[in-house]
Amino acid sequence: MKTKDYSHYIGQKFGRLLITGIIQNSERDKKRKRLRTIVSTICNCGNKTNTRIESVLSGRTKSCGCLLRETAKITKTTHGKSNLLRYTKVYKCWQNLKFQCEHETKHKSKLGMLSKRWKSFNNFLSDMGQPPTNDHKLGRLDPFKPYCKTNCCWMLDKEIQERRTNVVKEYSLLFKLFHNFRTRLIDTGRNI
Ligand SMILES: [Zn+2]
Repeated sequence: MKTKDYSHYIGQKFGRLLITGIIQNSERDKKRKRLRTIVSTICNCGNKTNTRIESVLSGRTKSCGCLLRETAKITKTTHGKSNLLRYTKVYKCWQNLKFQCEHETKHKSKLGMLSKRWKSFNNFLSDMGQPPTNDHKLGRLDPFKPYCKTNCCWMLDKEIQERRTNVVKEYSLLFKLFHNFRTRLIDTGRNI
């Protein structure tokens, strides 16, 4: 039986789940007579779960289970009193983000970075849910890409800083490579 390499999915996000590792690569599923791959994930709510990769990739599993629980809870508690939502942390976070993405504030790098889908609070809420703790903030996996479902996680300050440092390092390495390449071309009389 063939094995498939799923390692490139590590670090990618599907729904609320960030894939952090491949646990059992291609173990045979006896009942279904096919290969089975389990991925370890961390959910926006902070829960760690192991899920079959097909469920994650197909979108059948979008969270550790918190999404369903929250949706049910929010529908119940806010039924007929939507004002309550405005006092939640997730609402304040979305409101700040939207403001910073739409106005020239000191956070210039956020201007124009809000995805279309997240201009609606309900979409933001169903994608991200409540932050796991009060210390968690909305962070981007790639700080140069927009705020959207696949690029965001609830993170601690330290994690946000680490991401930024790592990504800046990666980008400057790419730039250096390109610069060297270009210099070589110019040296040989070609210009790009
Ligand atoms: Zn969760």
